[in-house]
Amino acid sequence: MEAAPVPAPEPFRPPGSSVLSLDFERLRSKLLTYLKPEDVGRVEAAYHFSASAHEGQFRISGEPYISHPVAVAAVVADWNLDSQALIAALLHDVMEDTHISKQEIAERFGKTAAELVDGLSKLDKIEFRSQEEAQAENFRKMLLAMASDLRVILVKLADRLHNMRTLDCVRPAKRRRIANETLEIYAPIANRLGLNNLYRELQELSFEHKYPLRFRVLSRAIKAARGNRREVVGKVLASIEERMPQWGISAEVQGREKHLYSIYRKMVEKHLSFSQVLDIYGFRVIVPDIAGCYLALGALHAMFKPVPGKFKDYIAIPKANGYQSLHTTLIGPFGTPVEVQIRTREMHHIAEAGVASHWLYKEDEKTLTELQQKTHSWLQSLLELQNTSGEATEFLEHVKIDLFPGEVYVFSPKGTIFSLLKGATPVDFAYAVHTDIGNRCVACRINGDLMPLRTELRNGDQVEIITAAHANPNPAWLSYVRTGKARAQIRHFIKNAQQEESVALGERLLNQALRPHGLTLGQISTFAWDRFLRDRGVRSKKEIFSDIGLGKRLPVIVARRVAQAQDQESGRPDVIKPKPAGAILIRGSEGIAVQLARCCQPIPGDPIIGTIRKGQGLEVHLHDCPTVAKLRGDRGRWVDVEWEAGEDRLFDVTIRVLTKNARGVLARVASAIAEADCNIQNLNMDNEQGAYTALNLTLQVRDRMHLAHVMRAVRRVPEVVRIGRLRGDGRAG
Ligand code: MN
Repeated sequence: MEAAPVPAPEPFRPPGSSVLSLDFERLRSKLLTYLKPEDVGRVEAAYHFSASAHEGQFRISGEPYISHPVAVAAVVADWNLDSQALIAALLHDVMEDTHISKQEIAERFGKTAAELVDGLSKLDKIEFRSQEEAQAENFRKMLLAMASDLRVILVKLADRLHNMRTLDCVRPAKRRRIANETLEIYAPIANRLGLNNLYRELQELSFEHKYPLRFRVLSRAIKAARGNRREVVGKVLASIEERMPQWGISAEVQGREKHLYSIYRKMVEKHLSFSQVLDIYGFRVIVPDIAGCYLALGALHAMFKPVPGKFKDYIAIPKANGYQSLHTTLIGPFGTPVEVQIRTREMHHIAEAGVASHWLYKEDEKTLTELQQKTHSWLQSLLELQNTSGEATEFLEHVKIDLFPGEVYVFSPKGTIFSLLKGATPVDFAYAVHTDIGNRCVACRINGDLMPLRTELRNGDQVEIITAAHANPNPAWLSYVRTGKARAQIRHFIKNAQQEESVALGERLLNQALRPHGLTLGQISTFAWDRFLRDRGVRSKKEIFSDIGLGKRLPVIVARRVAQAQDQESGRPDVIKPKPAGAILIRGSEGIAVQLARCCQPIPGDPIIGTIRKGQGLEVHLHDCPTVAKLRGDRGRWVDVEWEAGEDRLFDVTIRVLTKNARGVLARVASAIAEADCNIQNLNMDNEQGAYTALNLTLQVRDRMHLAHVMRAVRRVPEVVRIGRLRGDGRAG
């Protein structure tokens, strides 16, 4: 990975730190067992540099701060990691706590070490807060994605381990938060990477600090139980050690204590009391090869009866993190169940150190590249193995983002994590949150700063989108959005907007072209439109408007045909035609086709409201029309409209008159209407009312006052019982 070897830097010895601490002395002698002397020299230089950078800083415990990076480096050295990782461990808090730049680290210790330190500083800045399962999952993914180099994660885990080991000095509330974060985030990552020892220790420490009381009670109970069972355990151990050679197996037998946290989990999950959790003690049998594993299993089952259903073959089917072993539970002396794990030496190494096992147990001298390749192929083989089980696919994703980072993880202001395609911008983020947020987005803040919408997002960014109510997507966004959703939504919006524009333009052009025919769009009846559309096989008026707007049809020609259709309808003999006296004048409707709603038949003087219906212009309803009430919450766009004075035409309105059945009633009602200077446009009768008849009369009136005058005249007819205007719902009101 390292391109060119970095020359060992000049010894860095500022006054006051020329003496090596005891802890570092110990680390140094450990390093000399597996690193080249010049690499140890580099690590030592990093130690001095870090010590002087942290000079005067102390941990909460009161120790000089440098003790922490040295302890972290010691954990890293336990895994036999390379000098770059050790330098990063020693410098991991330097950028955060002092004012030393990445540049300076790169100059002193090389680019790789600087990248590692930088990666660690970034991980430090993010904090896990939510308790939600899904969030924890995303958070883990994000951590893995941010650590583009596996060594960053390993050093981070070592850092967390040391912080957990020294958590006692921290105040209780913070202690619980950190313990929880470790349990939810870091322990599972250690588990996924197969770092089992680390995983167990992180769990134990988290348990101790999250539930101090439960931890104390349980550890006391286990101590007591172990005392009681010492005899049984001793007997089992002795007889296994004795028997194995008799079967020709050279085995190493170890006693194994169950971890507190796993006992606790078992109690919680299976609702058991402590005394019901019997298998708190187990054994591990380590043999030279796989054949030996099955042989040892046979020997054990011959010695003690196995508990049925407890045998698991993780050699044939390894766990998701690569773990392999045979597990069985035996019934020991006095009926105590005893758990046994059987594995080879190599399986044992992987079981304990997982991904780090290749550094830790390298057989001979290997270069870093070789080790990385080996690790890489280890992860790859995990991937292949993952494809078979469900849990596995999950792990696959984690390793994938580690090895092939193609995603970026960012926070919303509320702390929700969104995963986006690498290279995504705030616009992509806005559309990921919600289409409306995307459509109305005008600006953004990244980590609190106003930034251009085209900024490429980085892992861990907190993104806040600023929207404006009337903003629209900008076609220029298409040049930089990365996600399919954003692209599709922007395209959709632009297409719609173009469509609407051409419809509006077409409508205006047609209206103009109708003028020479003495018509406006508002006067073209639905009937005429239907005829016109049917003859041309077109589905909607909107399509005609859009065609005109786009130049596909000539407005003059369409106007002529529409006018013809209208004339044909108006020519029907049964219609008493009001003289068209120009457009219906409604204030605020300039240039828009106006239609009076058929459901409520508004007339001048009525309180009205308009709705713009796509492709049909403005439709005017009574303010209290039931249709309006139904649609108000709907998508309909409502506009306030008023009648314009000076209207000189007649309007249809329907009234309902209930009369007693008597000879000549209809004639009397009709003549009352005529005397009030009003035409009857249409009449239908409903006789099935027994002694009464209901008349629905469509009248032509000038306005509300005219209608009131007509209704007063009708009410004077003696047989009329009730009279009212017919509303949208068919009831008289
Ligand atoms: Mn630290």
